[in-house]
Amino acid sequence: MERRLGRRELLRGAGAVALLGAMHGCGVAGMGVKRQVAPPTLQLVPVRATTDRISRITVCTRPFRAEGTRLDVEQFGTKVIVHNYGHGGSGWSLSWGSSSIAVRKAMAGGERDIAVIGCGALGLTSALLLQRAGSRVTIYAKDLPPNVRSSLASGLWTPDSRICLEENATPAFKQLWEQMTRTSFLTYQNFLGLPGTPVEFIDSYFVSDDAQSLHRRPQPDARPPFAELQRELVSDLMPKSVDVAPGSHPFGARFVRQNTQMMFNLAAYQRLLMADFLSNGGKIEIAEFHSPNDFTKLREKTLINATGYGARALFGDESLIPVRGQLARGIPQPEVGYGLFYKGVSFVPRRDGLVFQAVGNNDYYGFNDDSVVPDRSEADRAVNTIAELFNSA
Ligand SMILES: Cc1cc2nc3c(=O)[nH]c(=O)nc-3n(C[C@H](O)[C@H](O)[C@H](O)COP(=O)(O)OP(=O)(O)OC[C@H]3O[C@@H](n4cnc5c(N)ncnc54)[C@H](O)[C@@H]3O)c2cc1C
Repeated sequence: MERRLGRRELLRGAGAVALLGAMHGCGVAGMGVKRQVAPPTLQLVPVRATTDRISRITVCTRPFRAEGTRLDVEQFGTKVIVHNYGHGGSGWSLSWGSSSIAVRKAMAGGERDIAVIGCGALGLTSALLLQRAGSRVTIYAKDLPPNVRSSLASGLWTPDSRICLEENATPAFKQLWEQMTRTSFLTYQNFLGLPGTPVEFIDSYFVSDDAQSLHRRPQPDARPPFAELQRELVSDLMPKSVDVAPGSHPFGARFVRQNTQMMFNLAAYQRLLMADFLSNGGKIEIAEFHSPNDFTKLREKTLINATGYGARALFGDESLIPVRGQLARGIPQPEVGYGLFYKGVSFVPRRDGLVFQAVGNNDYYGFNDDSVVPDRSEADRAVNTIAELFNSA
């Protein structure tokens, strides 16, 4: 079980100043004293997790569909509508792959003037991919970033988070999901190392008070389980997670598992997508649609519908279920470059503001709750849970 973390891994995970190993146990070479070198200790810059550093609390709903993402094509009068919505907690993660499927369908009839309805993760990536394939694109949307739901996501690569129920994960859906996931993953590699760090890899530590839950699946629920597809279908994409040896981490007597995650710094990333779309000649019109009949006013014959949770009201799609999620945003701490998960709370070290989020012990947390009213006590609890790791260690 024991594994020594390499120097580069430590530096990458802990940020530039987090360090190498304590030298306890080091003897002096020579003079007949035997040299002993203790294993390196993982030292992490403590997170400044105090409730007075919460700068904002945001709430939004994940657009979950039990049967998964909607990507079919519908004829509506003279308009062809390609749906691209219902990505649950995976909208950013799957965006490039899902949108590339929608774009192929939209351009299949030869149209080159295409409307995209919506300017969140799915609308923006659809619009950019349409442009790259030679289309002229106008985005029509009620709200633009940063005032879209997508701006309120945690910002992690989570391609199978609340994407569908296990019972609906048919072989056909699994194939579609794998295609979306692999395409997105590859595309995200093009955003590494750019100014503003829109995308980066980080180390994360899953911390537990007991050894068993380090390897246990999320707590069971009487309701049907959500599909977990990453391990089965794309386990080759990310490095394997590993246990951190007891005593070689800063979390006292707790048990720790380290994994690698891809993180999206959404402020920089969304701005980059918007800037690319506009500099490619894209147009944006602010418009709200109350029913699909309103699309008859648009000049374009082919539309990609990327309205996310908005599709529930717009298309009367009651299969879209809201899954509430609240982020407590903390003042940025650039020297902290690692994530944490402890007692049902996730911490993400986003450069555009730390993210503390109660996510519970299974994916039903916030299920069917469309309230977007911030809950200050939930935010305080999330921050205080992460603080425990540093106060008592
Ligand atoms: C707390 C939380 C954390 C999350 N964390 C992650 C994560 O770490 N990684 C990840 O991959 N995903 C995450 N998600 C999920 C992700 O945020 C969503 O799947 C994604 O934002 C959906 O994007 P979208 O483009 O479909 O919708 P939206 O971002 O909601 O965009 C919809 C667009 O359509 C427009 N629109 C809607 N209705 C109308 C209408 N009637 N007329 C005109 N315009 C309309 C809106 O104005 C907007 O421009 C998280 C979600 C939540 C709530």
